[in-house]
Amino acid sequence: VIEMGLPEHAVVTTCAYCGVGCGFKAEMQGKRVVRMTPWKDGRANEGHACVKGRFAWGYATHQDRVTKPMIRAKITDPWREVSWDEAIAYAASEFRRLQAEHGRGAVGGITSSRCTNEEAYLVQKLVRAAFGNNNVDTCARVCHSPTGYGLGQTFGTSAGTQTFKSVAHADVVLVIGANPSDAHPVFASRLKRRLRQGAKLIVIDPRRIDLVASPHVKAEHHLQLKPGTNVAVLDALAHVIVTEGLVDEAFVAERCDARSFGQWRDFVARPENSPEVLEAVSGVPATAVRSAARLYATRGLNAAIYYGLGVTEHAQGSTAVMAIANLAMATGNVGREGVGVNPLRGQNNVQGSCDMGSFPHELPGYRHISDSTVRAEFDAAWGVTLDPEPGLRIPNMFDAALGGSFKGLYVQGEDIVQSDPNTQHVGAALEALECLVVQDIFLNETAKYAHVFLPGASFLEKDGTFTNAERRISRVRRVMPPLAGLADWEVTVRLAKALGYPMDYAHPEAVMQEIAALTPSFAGVSYEKIERLGSVQWPCNERTEEAGTSVMHVGGFVRGKGRFVITAYQPSDERANRRFPLLLTTGRVLSQYNVGAQTRRTANTAWHGEDRLELHPSDAELRGVVDGDWVGITSRAGETVLRARVTERVAPGVVYTTFHFPESGANVITTDSSDWATNCPEYKVTAVEVTKVTQP
Ligand code: SF4
Repeated sequence: VIEMGLPEHAVVTTCAYCGVGCGFKAEMQGKRVVRMTPWKDGRANEGHACVKGRFAWGYATHQDRVTKPMIRAKITDPWREVSWDEAIAYAASEFRRLQAEHGRGAVGGITSSRCTNEEAYLVQKLVRAAFGNNNVDTCARVCHSPTGYGLGQTFGTSAGTQTFKSVAHADVVLVIGANPSDAHPVFASRLKRRLRQGAKLIVIDPRRIDLVASPHVKAEHHLQLKPGTNVAVLDALAHVIVTEGLVDEAFVAERCDARSFGQWRDFVARPENSPEVLEAVSGVPATAVRSAARLYATRGLNAAIYYGLGVTEHAQGSTAVMAIANLAMATGNVGREGVGVNPLRGQNNVQGSCDMGSFPHELPGYRHISDSTVRAEFDAAWGVTLDPEPGLRIPNMFDAALGGSFKGLYVQGEDIVQSDPNTQHVGAALEALECLVVQDIFLNETAKYAHVFLPGASFLEKDGTFTNAERRISRVRRVMPPLAGLADWEVTVRLAKALGYPMDYAHPEAVMQEIAALTPSFAGVSYEKIERLGSVQWPCNERTEEAGTSVMHVGGFVRGKGRFVITAYQPSDERANRRFPLLLTTGRVLSQYNVGAQTRRTANTAWHGEDRLELHPSDAELRGVVDGDWVGITSRAGETVLRARVTERVAPGVVYTTFHFPESGANVITTDSSDWATNCPEYKVTAVEVTKVTQP
């Protein structure tokens, strides 16, 4: 229900949903928010907004909010409300007991891409300095970790190259594995505006997304590939570019590493990478691939690539990111307005949580933990001796928990039971823990396995910063006091102190000062500068414009010369067969958000109140299924039941669903298969069978 009333004053803050990072004015009546109005001076949105940011904020005061810390000795015991002091002391004593009994590496923490930069920084600092290991990971593990790896290998840093505004200069736009109309609506509006002005669009997606053909835009090419074959299509595009003389030789000679380019060129030119050969793999007609490649590589046109989780959440997610970077470098489409490689980040602060050192092998600013010079800086600043060994990734934590060597976990702001793949495996791992501490605004699915529950604060109760998909750092401002009395950063600081590692900050601004001093990419970032300029884009230091860098890699890549990487296609282990003849892929809808913890508790549920399984009319007919029927979906991992939506949006042999509602159990059927480089789960390919069932 949208509360109404005449606003008396307003606080400017940032949307806590997707990676577009729209600015909003929280309009207040006394201490009550009555309206969220898109901020016209917000650089990411310029006064625009979508139905999530605009209307779905009422969850912040929903009756399900937990406002008292709770503990229990066993997960079968009832929760007992306790004071903050008792909850934090209990969690700290359990973590220390487990380390004493099982070793320093027996505990770890998970940072959240929903929380602020300052909060992510403090959680990784707690793990490294107070726990004394590097067992810290982030929910970006399950979304854009391949972006971190792939863009790091090729360009030298893990970040989108452009501002969203840059699309206004694009002549050709390639959207692969992303559905901006639903997942990044304000960026989609900018893109559609450009398309209406005449820019050409190529869509690579197994599903006929809105951009392919909607009332006002139409894609020039829709390469409707089979799930799991991104790399085959990208290699085929590269083959055409190389063999038809479409390489920007001058750009490559000046800006890229000659040896790696030569090896890559020889690789993609091989006949097995031709569109004609790979058509059998991807299902995409060779003629369409050839036309799309010629369009993308047209000399004199600006061509930009935007991609999403349909690229990263694959067994070859990192390979596909590098294949995309190869295409952009080969055609000279990096380093100016209207071009580039742009990951559309799912959550509001995926970029920021990764920047803040949330991965087990990297300190803030993507610097490897094994680098003794970097470690020495942190040792001096934090007064500790950091462990040089990378810690456990989230899936490794689960395996170690089942193996008996990992015993305690602190999870801030992530519902790993609903959002991670193979729910049964995750549940068994969490059940094996002796101390699970969950910090969240609601008693989520993960909290069912917790021994300590620390009530979190919503974005309306926080001070700090978020970093959006264009590296834009914006302020999140407290609109109302934390319902539970403490902000998330204060809880982490108290936990560190109880663990015997005092942290001392008066305000998140002091945390940002420490981040800026220790993180080269954040050098020059300050609350004062953000206050004055509205937002800044990293890097923003004495060598850049005051507001930072809108286009990356101008004149040179961060790593020096751009590096081409050979990206051989490997079929996924998840293949259709007689038992599981269909391939399931997953995504999102406009009005709901990820696991739905927030949007399900708002009026947005009126637009989308359940997850459904899309299947093609021919597959439906074969199974005697009509629109609205209940169907059972079985995979190698598990089974669930959903209602069917019969539609030609998916091709024959492909089914699709969303995962916004816990009861639909989409991740009960996804498997442990993951990206070879980063362990990002292969959510986008699961072999399944679908059968008609009676209503559960
Ligand atoms: Fe929020 Fe994203 Fe919608 Fe903007 S586009 S209002 S950031 S959900």
